[in-house]
Amino acid sequence: MRLYNTLTRKLEDFKPIGDIVKIYTCGPTVYSFPHIGNYAAYTYWDLLVRTLKANGYNVKRVLNLTDVGHLTSDGDEGEDKLEKGAAREGKSPFEIADFYSKVYLDNYAKLNLLPADIVARATDYIEEDKAAVDKMLASGFAYETTDGVYYDTSKFPGYADFARLNLEGLQAGARVEFSNEKRNAADFAVWKFIQPGEKHAMRWDYLGRPGYPGWHLECSTIIQKELGQPIDIHTGGVDHIPVHHTNEIAQSYALSDKPLANYWIHCDFITIDGEKISKSLGNTYTLEDLAERGYSPMDYKMWLLMGHYQGTRNFTFDSLEGAKNRRNNWRARIAECYQGDTSTGDAAGGTPAGAPATVGETAAAGPVEIPSAFNRILAAVNENLNSAEAFAIIDNSDLTLSDWEKVDELFGLKLIADTPDVSAEVYDLIREREAAREAKDFARSDEIRDQLAAQNILVRDTADGSIWQYIK
Ligand code: AMP
Ligand code: ZN
Repeated sequence: MRLYNTLTRKLEDFKPIGDIVKIYTCGPTVYSFPHIGNYAAYTYWDLLVRTLKANGYNVKRVLNLTDVGHLTSDGDEGEDKLEKGAAREGKSPFEIADFYSKVYLDNYAKLNLLPADIVARATDYIEEDKAAVDKMLASGFAYETTDGVYYDTSKFPGYADFARLNLEGLQAGARVEFSNEKRNAADFAVWKFIQPGEKHAMRWDYLGRPGYPGWHLECSTIIQKELGQPIDIHTGGVDHIPVHHTNEIAQSYALSDKPLANYWIHCDFITIDGEKISKSLGNTYTLEDLAERGYSPMDYKMWLLMGHYQGTRNFTFDSLEGAKNRRNNWRARIAECYQGDTSTGDAAGGTPAGAPATVGETAAAGPVEIPSAFNRILAAVNENLNSAEAFAIIDNSDLTLSDWEKVDELFGLKLIADTPDVSAEVYDLIREREAAREAKDFARSDEIRDQLAAQNILVRDTADGSIWQYIK
């Protein structure tokens, strides 16, 4: 397997540290309804986990939920997003966090994303945060100001490396407004003090004053506690590179003599009709908006996986329609497999694969040799998660039902679950109709066609024989 590693700016062979591949995913800030762009990263990292599993790796993945400390600026200025959400809805930030955490997790399930092994809420790690700040203060990596405790970036010689930052430029640019107690322009808060009169409901006493952790700290402390440094793969959005991940790396340098992660992978942004997703443009579509227009979460997932996580993806409803049709086409092919259509090269021993038991038997038959079509599909995603290439192989190869099961496991597109098998009774009717057609008993054949149509099964007669399709 190869992955593009932001750390080295190279495609690298993936070599795990130990038996279990440790992955950390920077999760959402749970303060408002997510738009469709917010699911991109999680869908691509779901593909990452599924690809690792398909290659036989065991995976332990931690996802955090940011419920405190993420300011509107992504830096140290602005309002805490949770407090802002609370003011907007007249609720407490804890209620806001509970509500939107559930929205996110429910929608991950709708997108059939494998649940993370640990879902870590930032506010459950406050004691670990305080211990980390203690350590940074004691070792001179952090210093106290009236505004909070700041990380001294000049103490970390590699600070600029990860994002290829120009620190001199940053320092020069910051000089005009550089009136606070920060020692260097890039220094960032690991802990913020709540000033007298400042409204901030989420607060913890530390260093003799009320305060709350800086946004970046939670990821360092959660990784240390739940996975241990170094981890194998750290994931995030490209927007995390210059500030959030750079600062996570700096913190973890102060807290451990081991690197934070061996591979860093970042996903790029989705645009809509060529525009940035933003409230002012009115294009912050949610999964529910797509559903209202007749597109399921699986159609959207299909659309995401038709592209590459590193490319800027431009969403249009036309391209979503294309994704929906392509997925339905795959489902129709699966339906054909259920009929035991020999042209699909069904590997299930020539038995009509219509009976549901066939699927189970195939799956339960133990280690079966992987058919080469699936091998080629897996090889494509092994190359830096190139699902687009894998999809082209799927379009152009004969797949058996057993291949489709593996494809479904690899991409999590609910292809089989959404393609109902037919009951043995219906299957018998289809066979009987074929026999009637062969015997040129068209009256009987039409009669059966109507009987099937009444059960939402559409029979089409093709040059290769008749095939059925389930119509919803
Ligand atoms: P936000 O809630 O707007 O801060 O977004 C949370 C995270 O979702 C960001 O840090 C990005 O990594 C990701 N994200 C936001 N907008 C998009 C987008 N249009 N496409 C892909 N990812 C996005
Ligand atoms: Zn993070």
